[in-house]
Amino acid sequence: MAEPAVLRVRHCGAQIFCRRPPQLCPACGLPLRGAGLAAAPLRLPSPFRHGHRQPYAFLLRPTTGTFLGGYDGKSDLHVGITNSNGVVYNYSQDGIQRAETGWEQCISIPLVQPDMFGMLQQWDKLLEEFSEGEAWLPHRYEEGDHNCYTYALAFINSVLTAQGKQQLSKSEFTEKFVIPQTKRASKYITLHQELTAKDFYIVPLPDPLKEC
Ligand SMILES: [Zn+2]
Repeated sequence: MAEPAVLRVRHCGAQIFCRRPPQLCPACGLPLRGAGLAAAPLRLPSPFRHGHRQPYAFLLRPTTGTFLGGYDGKSDLHVGITNSNGVVYNYSQDGIQRAETGWEQCISIPLVQPDMFGMLQQWDKLLEEFSEGEAWLPHRYEEGDHNCYTYALAFINSVLTAQGKQQLSKSEFTEKFVIPQTKRASKYITLHQELTAKDFYIVPLPDPLKEC
């Protein structure tokens, strides 16, 4: 399930997004070869990660389908936490799931710094024990306020508490860690969708003289 690349070329005051670098600039018609370094195609980094290869992370994906497979920006999202092997612990109406597949295209927020050896060693045990808690039995699930997000955030907070750190509210966590990533992802999804329908997507660069 490799993602098709999104390339960006700058030329004649425009940003040209495409899958493959064109010979001629689609905005002005002049050859791009020899147009200098700025016109060299740059591959945009994808905001998405293979979730099962992201240990110790908070993951976010559409509940059904994938971000690049027609996500409309409004449908429900599902979240989970990975253990050291990329198994995604997530809470749903069926209780705690330990998923080894299905999270191949996610927004990923790393939760543990690589130098936190003590936490890395304890992580799997903490996650397993936390997930066995009564709060996460299937019948306790409520879509509005006792859901996948409640579970993930409660686990993160239990870890923060164990480290003597302050807990995060849902809005703090969302604003600080989730929204910057979803904004990036949303721009990338737009480009991806434009390039599904056509070969080029041209965005004028802001005119530097307008500011004067
Ligand atoms: Zn041009």
